[in-house]
Amino acid sequence: MAKKKIEDILPHRVLTDKEDLFCYGFDASSTEGIPSAVVKPINTQEVAEVAAFANEYETPIVPRGAGTGMTGGAVPMEDVIVLSLEGMNRILEIDTQNMVAVVEPGVINGHLQEKLEEKGLFYPPDPASLKFCTLGGNVAENAGGPRAIKYGVTKDYVLGLETVLPDGRVIMTGGKTYKGVVGYDLTRLLVGSEGTLGIITKMFLKILPMPEEVVTLLCTYDSLDAAARTVSAITTSPIIPRTLEIMDRESIIAVEKYKNFGLPQDAEALLLIEVDGSHASVSIDAEKIASICTSNKGNVSIADDTYAKQRLWDARRAISPALYKISPTKINEDIVVPRSRVADILKTLRDIAERSNLTIANFGHAGDGNIHVNVMTDKNNPEKHKKAVSAIKEIFEATLKLGGTISGEHGVGITKKQYIDMELSDTNIELMKAIKRVFDPKGILNPGKIFP
Ligand SMILES: Cc1cc2nc3c(=O)[nH]c(=O)nc-3n(C[C@H](O)[C@H](O)[C@H](O)COP(=O)(O)OP(=O)(O)OC[C@H]3O[C@@H](n4cnc5c(N)ncnc54)[C@H](O)[C@@H]3O)c2cc1C
Repeated sequence: MAKKKIEDILPHRVLTDKEDLFCYGFDASSTEGIPSAVVKPINTQEVAEVAAFANEYETPIVPRGAGTGMTGGAVPMEDVIVLSLEGMNRILEIDTQNMVAVVEPGVINGHLQEKLEEKGLFYPPDPASLKFCTLGGNVAENAGGPRAIKYGVTKDYVLGLETVLPDGRVIMTGGKTYKGVVGYDLTRLLVGSEGTLGIITKMFLKILPMPEEVVTLLCTYDSLDAAARTVSAITTSPIIPRTLEIMDRESIIAVEKYKNFGLPQDAEALLLIEVDGSHASVSIDAEKIASICTSNKGNVSIADDTYAKQRLWDARRAISPALYKISPTKINEDIVVPRSRVADILKTLRDIAERSNLTIANFGHAGDGNIHVNVMTDKNNPEKHKKAVSAIKEIFEATLKLGGTISGEHGVGITKKQYIDMELSDTNIELMKAIKRVFDPKGILNPGKIFP
């Protein structure tokens, strides 16, 4: 009997035109490939049929949300079917009794945020890509965002998952309860598994009441070190801000070149800080934070209306696109150091930039010790690119020496897999590979990712 094709299984859901395939061949890393087909199921049953097909014919499949990943996780290798979850985009329930949102994986993060806000509710994980990334992609990458310093990352909000295994079986882990310790915590294992263990088809997400008030402060500095010292002073103070973001001079200039947001271009660094809570507490907390900033030589202003706040956040979220515009093949890393070492790593990054004669733009979630390091290289200039690649290795070594990790929220995917053994022991890697084999003995789900 002739081998079946995916078109025989779900004829109305498959794309094979070259133009369509091209659109599903890349993400926000600089990697790309062309899939053999794209399939766009609209429910769990159809996802299970695709997985069962893939299992029977040993055809690799790559789950895909919005393709905003930074490490090539959704990029197809050769002869692979892309399984796009974008058609499964319904908010199934907002359960205010239990404070749980039940959603399909293709729901855009920002769309859920808007729907919750209408009800005075709030889903804290807020990656800068929230206007276009999917919640399925957020769970698969364990995405973070500026609000993580106070509220944590995606894994802290996933109560349960429905997942299709690579052979087509469907499992449910967790659910609407806030607790559950029966057996191993498979939900936590699936969160951050980068589409290599199962295809997430439904998510039970914890939601919170919206804070009464948010105050947004912009603090500018003549020195990067003073900004970093402020970060340490705030993180050791009794107030937990809801965001504590840093932008260095290169990031500020890039963003202002991209669009005029009105950031001070002569500043060496700035901090974007928010505090939230009740009307009574917020202004007191904001004053305390402002005084920490000024005592560390910062110049503080408060965004006094929604427009001014929005403009600051638009500027913050425009950094990545702005840097891409200047250097389309830049290398973007996502290191984290213990919070007390933020000043040390920023100094090291400056030293590496100077020594290797490269521009390195740094910004990110300084309150978590999470710095997005952008080495502005040009793949078409082999000499410069070689220097950039060796600078990356040096940056990772310095990060690990400070007790940090080489990826805080972007995952490993393709682009970081050659570095994982710098951080993980052979035993760790063997255990992880063994887990992969249990879930996916034929190796058909998102092959070529995470492991070198
Ligand atoms: C401008 C910009 C800003 C960003 N800012 C942040 C940030 O602040 N914080 C942050 O954490 N990230 C950030 N990112 C990275 C990216 O947006 C996140 O990793 C996001 O979670 C990816 O979602 P996606 O829908 O685009 O997933 P994709 O890129 O499509 O996929 C990512 C991975 O998830 C897997 N996957 C997708 N859906 C499923 C599913 N249903 N089941 C199983 N596996 C699946 C894929 O196979 C792939 O491995 C940013 C990206 C950009 C371009």
